Amino acid sequence: MNENLRINVSEIFGENVFNDSVMQARLPKKVYSKLHQIIAEGGELDIETADVIAHEMKEWAIEKGATHFTHWFQPLTGVTAEKHDSFITAPMDSGKVLMSFSGKELIKGEADASSFPSGGLRATFEARGYTAWDCTSPAFVRQDAGGATLCIPTAFCSYTGEALDQKTPLLRSMQAVGEQSLRLLRLFGNTTSKKVTPSVGAEQEYFLVDREKYLKRKDLVFTGRTLFGAMPPKGQEMDDHYFGSIRERIAAYMKDVDVELWKLGVTSKTEHNEAAPAQHEMAPIYAECNVAVDHNQLVMETLKKVAGRHGLQCLLHEKPFDGVNGSGKHNNWSLTTDDGINLLDPGKKPHENAQFLLVLACVLKAVDKHAGLLRASAADVGNDHRLGAHEAPPAIISVYLGEQLEDILAQYMEKGAATHSIKGEGLSTGVKTLPDFRKDAADRNRTSPFAFTGNKFEFRMVGSQDSVAQSNVILNTIVAEAFAEACDVLENAEDFDAAVHSLIQEYAQAHERIIFNGDGYSEEWVEEAARRGLPNLECMVDAIPEYVAPASVELFEKFGVFSRSELESRMEIEYEIYAKTLNIEAKAMIDIATKQIVPAVIRYTTVLADSINSVKAACPEAPVNVQISLLKETSKCLEETKEAMVKLQDVTEKAFRMERGAAQARYYRDEVNAAMEQLRDPVDKLEMIVDKSMWPMPSYGDLIFEV
Ligand code: ADP
Ligand code: MG
Repeated sequence: MNENLRINVSEIFGENVFNDSVMQARLPKKVYSKLHQIIAEGGELDIETADVIAHEMKEWAIEKGATHFTHWFQPLTGVTAEKHDSFITAPMDSGKVLMSFSGKELIKGEADASSFPSGGLRATFEARGYTAWDCTSPAFVRQDAGGATLCIPTAFCSYTGEALDQKTPLLRSMQAVGEQSLRLLRLFGNTTSKKVTPSVGAEQEYFLVDREKYLKRKDLVFTGRTLFGAMPPKGQEMDDHYFGSIRERIAAYMKDVDVELWKLGVTSKTEHNEAAPAQHEMAPIYAECNVAVDHNQLVMETLKKVAGRHGLQCLLHEKPFDGVNGSGKHNNWSLTTDDGINLLDPGKKPHENAQFLLVLACVLKAVDKHAGLLRASAADVGNDHRLGAHEAPPAIISVYLGEQLEDILAQYMEKGAATHSIKGEGLSTGVKTLPDFRKDAADRNRTSPFAFTGNKFEFRMVGSQDSVAQSNVILNTIVAEAFAEACDVLENAEDFDAAVHSLIQEYAQAHERIIFNGDGYSEEWVEEAARRGLPNLECMVDAIPEYVAPASVELFEKFGVFSRSELESRMEIEYEIYAKTLNIEAKAMIDIATKQIVPAVIRYTTVLADSINSVKAACPEAPVNVQISLLKETSKCLEETKEAMVKLQDVTEKAFRMERGAAQARYYRDEVNAAMEQLRDPVDKLEMIVDKSMWPMPSYGDLIFEV
């Protein structure tokens, strides 16, 4: 093997992370154990301890080449934000500078909050926002072209303590589900576990295209997706891309991504080609919920950054190409104790595992009761193009359990107990040299938005460019509520075992409608779900109000995850993001049509007209019907294009002038969206007619089949 290709994973893994072993090695014993205790059990860091940690963190970071530090946070824009400060302090008399970093700078930062969306939570006169160190997510040094920076994961709050970010409610929800899980475990006789944390593994899908071609597509540059583009003659019908051999260029890219991520302590584990051409996926090993959320942000950043080095562009949009599979994120979620028990592990005999079955029944209840909210957590402008399309989970929430668990719950529903579990059968491969497998008791259902996969739930609705924070906030909190309600009953029960059985039976019966093991992509399911009374919130604008539904407000206030004003502000922000995104898309379309497409088509019609004239001049009796009919068809499409541009311009201006909020967002969704489709239609037809060498941008075929 080429020595340059050899990587010592164990050596580089986490080398840029101020993790537990670095802390143990560098911090004085007393300081280390104090911090360790706070990380494990919570509590506040005193300033003296913080000073010592800050100093060591700075020394370590400087050894890694860092000159600056930043509080790294996740405002409600969906991406991360940071404000860089250098370690330099005032020069000494000698003219030299000191590099310093205090405990105060480590634990609390002040950011001008007015440049981030707050949905009216913070008037500009009190524009101060605070960032506070989330010591449960380790600091890291990020190296890039601009040098190296010490990044400190933080939460971001307003002057009055309201959450302005994704992290704060996430930490609050982890606390809620942790406490209620522990309460449940104690009832089942567990006295040893000290803490329960949600575990999350976020699988990430993305597209890779050639960067030079990308730069010629202004729609991709401005909006992340193609606003025009006719389908190539070869689509993904052949399914030959899936797990196809990863080509050299992509393989080199993936290797680089892995190395970058490993250095940052992100356990990048699997990678493969996805269903669509040019589409790929990576998955890390699961981690504690907040760390996994941070890591997913690093994954997205790294995927984009490394692509540049390979002459590639990474597209994280949910639907970069119309008619081609979109990208999502699978949020794998479970609950793990500090001593390694997974509450979602059914064990060998699930029918006898009352604790697991109660947990499962609680999850069903939570998901059924708050289906709309869970749907809203995956709402994102790009995801509207993906959810409900034939390849993505529908916008209807349902739960897939697999045959075995469904059967156990059926036994419960019938008799209030279960006496057996269906076993996985033997699976013969028919090849002597291959071992016979034991089939999993539960098969896979790729069409389900919320599927039980062995010892975890997989929420597959999240969009590929969205943060997984919001989905986990919702999952944690709704499950906390269901656990709390079960504990309320069980703590007062005379016969504990009987009470557990009847709760499982009650929940299974009451929430059976949320279980669906069939084809989630089918039209029949949409009808069946409507009969069952399950919500079908097709687009983001429909889903947003779920945040302030009475059951949601009660839920969040009960567990201190969001106050009503925080929820209202989030709702406003979401409407605003929707309106702004569509406004950008509409304007980009008009711009591209005006400056690129119309001129190109006019050039083409001129060539056609000239050719008719020259043929006629050279040979009056030669037929020119083909040229004439092409000219007619092109001119007709051109006229339609022009009309659609005027219409789009008109509705976009009108939308822009409307007052911000729900009505404006709805207008964008209905009127502006429709006008955009009307413009796309004749342009895509033109792309099929006009001479390829005259078309002003790379085609779908160029973009997705020639990476
Ligand atoms: P699958 O084939 O079900 O998608 P993988 O083993 O590829 O399963 O895992 C997918 C993701 O789920 C990975 O990120 C993995 O780390 C994560 N995962 C595995 N077990 C758990 C668990 N108990 N809790 C949360 N995430 C998990
Ligand atoms: Mg998966």
